[in-house]
Parts: sequence; structure tokens; C-alpha cells
Amino acid sequence: MQKTPQKPRVVILGAGFGGLTAARALVNDAHVTLVDRHNFQTFLPLLYQVSTAGLAADHVAHPIRGALRKTGIQFRMGSPISVDHKNNTIKLDSSEVLEFDYLIVALGSATADFGVPGVTEHALGMKSVNEALTIRAEVLRRFEDLCRFEDDTIFSISVVGGGPTGVEMAGAFAELVRGPLKHDQAHAAAHIKINLIEAGPRILPMFSEKLSAHGQKDLEKLGVTVHVNTAVQAIKPRKIEMKDGSSLPSEVTIWAAGVQGEPAGALLNLPLVNTRIDVDQTLQVKHYPHIFAIGDIAGLVGENGRMMPMVAPVAMQQARHVAKQIKRLAAGQELKPFKYIDKGSMATIGRHKAIVEVKKLRLVGIPAWYAWLWLHLFYLLGGRNKIGTMADWTWNYLTFDRGNRHIMDSL
Ligand SMILES: Cc1cc2nc3c(=O)[nH]c(=O)nc-3n(C[C@H](O)[C@H](O)[C@H](O)COP(=O)(O)OP(=O)(O)OC[C@H]3O[C@@H](n4cnc5c(N)ncnc54)[C@H](O)[C@@H]3O)c2cc1C
Repeated sequence: MQKTPQKPRVVILGAGFGGLTAARALVNDAHVTLVDRHNFQTFLPLLYQVSTAGLAADHVAHPIRGALRKTGIQFRMGSPISVDHKNNTIKLDSSEVLEFDYLIVALGSATADFGVPGVTEHALGMKSVNEALTIRAEVLRRFEDLCRFEDDTIFSISVVGGGPTGVEMAGAFAELVRGPLKHDQAHAAAHIKINLIEAGPRILPMFSEKLSAHGQKDLEKLGVTVHVNTAVQAIKPRKIEMKDGSSLPSEVTIWAAGVQGEPAGALLNLPLVNTRIDVDQTLQVKHYPHIFAIGDIAGLVGENGRMMPMVAPVAMQQARHVAKQIKRLAAGQELKPFKYIDKGSMATIGRHKAIVEVKKLRLVGIPAWYAWLWLHLFYLLGGRNKIGTMADWTWNYLTFDRGNRHIMDSL
């Protein structure tokens, strides 16, 4: 009698965009165990709306067990602490040891301070729901302080980093100040200043020059002061010092200047390029053919000679590719190199203000804004989150208010 081949055991570290997509793509072909330190997946592209009071925090978090229901995929909440490469096992911080035939590392990224002193101590990061709630609380607490003053005390919020996250955040703060906070206390709102600081010559450098200029104009219309060619030297309490010797008062500084491979990746004793795991074009880790790395943590060099951008479509496409690679390996077939299909970029600046660039197609204003809304709603996980997000957005749109202006980080 012919023996049915055993399904391979696959352990996936990280249940974000890459890890969860890989798990689902392998559901029929492997015994999958997914590991994450949280029991929910964070929809990072909408995190800035949590910090600017546009969305409730639980609308951007989706329970992993809910996403895996009826799939047979195992979930473990925990973090890897070591790998035994001889026996193909991985130890978690719960002391559990998981055996694997294939390992997929999808641990994502962490805030990179690029060696700028004071980032950890005096700036707020933007990588988790917790950090987003801290930003919201810090800004609204300063606003409450400002409401006590009748003088010309200025409260400055600075966002460092002119990529999509920084731009979206600065625009959303400007709208929070111009709408809800102005209605709460006009004098205080008039004394809030928002800065966006970018080291390069223009914001949104992944877009064409025309769209990037459009984005800057939209931000300025909302009242944001955009500082380009302005490299940060150090973050100090209530102040940012620049490399050109100037400085800017800043009561709340948000660091959206960049990310690096998640440091936990280094515990796995795998080769690194800078902070990302060194992989071949097949996404196999160099010298470890049964281990793959995907998403932000994978240091894959693209056709342009540069590392793949740290964006969700890269992580999801790599996840599907690796699932196919594992099926090919199990069937004794040759592996294929990963090819990224870049479907374009988009960023929203505020109500009816967005930019979209898909190859030669460029959209601005209302059509771009609707395209942005629709796409984010489409990719958001979970029916409850979609309905909650639509409810928050509709409320914000119709009332010009933001219902999530709570300071919830203290008793
Ligand atoms: C604020 C923000 C906004 C963004 N906006 C966009 C956008 O608009 N469009 C876009 O395409 N991309 C955007 N990105 C980038 C995008 O979110 C990432 O490229 C994408 O999430 C990468 O997927 P990933 O699977 O590699 O990592 P993630 O989705 O980050 O998943 C990593 C997972 O690993 C888990 N993990 C990490 N360390 C450990 C550990 N030690 N132990 C256990 N689990 C661990 C995390 O909890 C997480 O669930 C944004 C990123 C940020 C931070």
C-alpha cells in the first residue's frame, strides 16, 4: 500500500501582514504553528488615526485566534528566545519547544533611531497600539494644560520623518486642532503649532516630485509647517536640535523617521545584513535552506539593487511566495526567485486630500481620498473592525468631530 506523505511542520514567527498571510496560504499543505507576542494583529497603516483620535484603538487590532478559527492552525502567544539549528527546534519564552521542518521568520520591524541621541528618552514611537494611545494621551493632556492659559503660550507638536506615516500623522493632527479642539477651546487650539521635519529635500520621496509637492501644499493649507533639508541632531526635553545648529521648541516629538529589522531576529543566530536577515532571491535564509524570512525583517535586495521597501504588499507577496516554495520543496521541485509586483503608493493628508500613484496613473484630491479609504477598509481584518472603522469615519466626516479624544493612559 502506498504511504500518504506526511505534511511538513511549519513554524511561523510573527502574525503580522506576512506571518498571517503565510499561515493561511499553507493551511491545506502543512501543520502550521503561528507565534506572536500579541494575541492580535495590528493594522499599522491606520495606527496614526488612533493617535490622532480618529479611530478607536480596538478597530485596528484583530484577534489572531479569530482569524485562524476553523483553519486547524495552532497559535502560541509568546516570543522566540533561541533556535537549535541541529535539531530544528525553537524555544519560546514560555519554555515550550516547537519542532519544525520549515521555519518562516516574519517578525517585522522596530523603530530605528539612526543613532540620534534622545529619541528613546524624549520622542514617542509609532509602532504599536500602546504607543499610539500614548501619543494621543500626551497631545490631549498638553491641550488640557493649554486650556488653563489665557496668554500666548505655544504648544508645539513635531513629527520627525516626511514619509507617508509622518505626513498622514501631521495632517491628521492639523485637522484635529482645526476642528474638534477648536470647538472645545478656541484660544488653546489657536496656540498649537504642528511641525513636520524631513532630512531630505522633499517629503514623500517615493512619489513623483509633482505629487510630493502637492502633498506638501495640502499640509501647509491645513496649517502644518513643513521643514525639509532639516536633519535632526538630537532630541532634548521640549526641544529638537538640528544639524545646522538651529533648534525648534517641541513639547511632543513623534519619531516617524524610520524602522529597522526587529531586534528579536538577532536571537535566531541567522546571518544579518545590517538589521535584516540575509536571504537569497528564493527568500531562503543564506546557508539555511529550510528557513525563510519575509516582510520587513527580510533583507532581500531587489532588481534595482536596493533592499525591498518595508511595506505591507512586500510582506504579503513574499508570504504567498514562501508558501509556494515550501510546497515545491515538499514535492522535490526547484525553487523560484521572488519577484515583487509594485502596485503603487498612496498617502492621505486630510479630508478630501490624498495622493495616489500607480505606475503612470496619478490621482489627487477627492478620487485619491476615496481610493485610499476603500483600500484600507478592504485590507483591514475582521468584520467588526470594518464596521467600527466605517462608523468612526462616518461620524467624523458628518460631524467634523472626533469621538476618541480620551486620555486613557492614567487612572
Ligand atoms: C505606523 C505605520 C504605518 C504604516 N503604514 C503603511 C501603509 O500605509 N502601507 C503599507 O504598505 N505599509 C505601511 N507600513 C508598513 C507595514 O505595516 C509593514 O511593512 C508590514 O507590517 C510588514 O509586515 P511584517 O509581517 O513583516 O511585519 P508586521 O506586520 O509588523 O508583523 C510582525 C509581527 O511580529 C510580531 N513580533 C515582533 N517581534 C516579536 C517577538 N520578539 N516575539 C513575538 N512576536 C513578535 C509582532 O507582534 C507582529 O505581529 C506602516 C508601518 C507603520 C509602523
